[in-house]
Amino acid sequence: MKEQEDAGIDIVTDGEQARQHFVHGFLERIEGVDFARRVTMGIRNNRYDAEVPTVTGPLRRKSNIHGFEAKIARAHTRRRLKFTLPGPMTIVDTIADAHYGDKVALAMAFAALLNEEARELAEIGVDVVQFDEPAFNVYMEEVTEWGIAALHRAAEDLPCKTAVHICYGYGIKANIDWKSSLGAEWRQYEAIFPALATSRIDQVSVECAGAKVPLDLLGLLNGKEVLLGAIDVASERVETPEEVAATIEQASRFVPVERLFPCTNCGMAPMDRSLAIRKLVALSADAALARRRFDHSAVEEGCG
Ligand code: ZN
Repeated sequence: MKEQEDAGIDIVTDGEQARQHFVHGFLERIEGVDFARRVTMGIRNNRYDAEVPTVTGPLRRKSNIHGFEAKIARAHTRRRLKFTLPGPMTIVDTIADAHYGDKVALAMAFAALLNEEARELAEIGVDVVQFDEPAFNVYMEEVTEWGIAALHRAAEDLPCKTAVHICYGYGIKANIDWKSSLGAEWRQYEAIFPALATSRIDQVSVECAGAKVPLDLLGLLNGKEVLLGAIDVASERVETPEEVAATIEQASRFVPVERLFPCTNCGMAPMDRSLAIRKLVALSADAALARRRFDHSAVEEGCG
């Protein structure tokens, strides 16, 4: 977190340093999830195989899950603090089920536990709870059918800001291959942004740097705060201030600058540490450049 502060990041996170995986870290302390019963299954619509635990009984938190990490993070920064949790649809897509037998019922059961956890995080002093939903870019029809309803359940009555992060994934080979199959324009956001615009979630975090996402789609998020992915986490090249200022400038044609917050495309957990720091410094410098142009903006880090 000190490195984020030194890099000039305004909204910092614990970087999920205490978790082995952004989904399984949450699942480890839930009764009804059996890690001894692991199965290999295709996830994100069979984009890649993952070894996942199995739901074998009714779900219940054994205790608070991430409170210890949140308290440490809160004690070590005066800046605004974001905390990330996996979203219900992405959890359901990253676990095997031998108990509920119904995807939506399972998602709602996880959403209730996420809500309990998120309320405790807000009490600790977390300023933003972000639900990471990379699955939203894969099952677009289900997002409107039940994905946003599950997200609302997870975010119900939270006193802090709420965000949903929807990306094209970490820079692993399976994701890079998938992206190259998506054609000249990535229009997945087009199918889900109108429903997100009318949702009760405050902020939407999206991937825009080095992506083939037409930035005019951001206009569909009318009224929302947009966390603009302006640093590519799938590339080892550090962006220049001019490049990212240009991304911010293009996005500002579709989102009022007071609702635009530059951040990274996704989390940097798999990235070389020194490279990640240089990218954060670039993000901050980029935003400073844009701020001089627009006289505004805050910078944040920490997507999924
Ligand atoms: Zn992500």
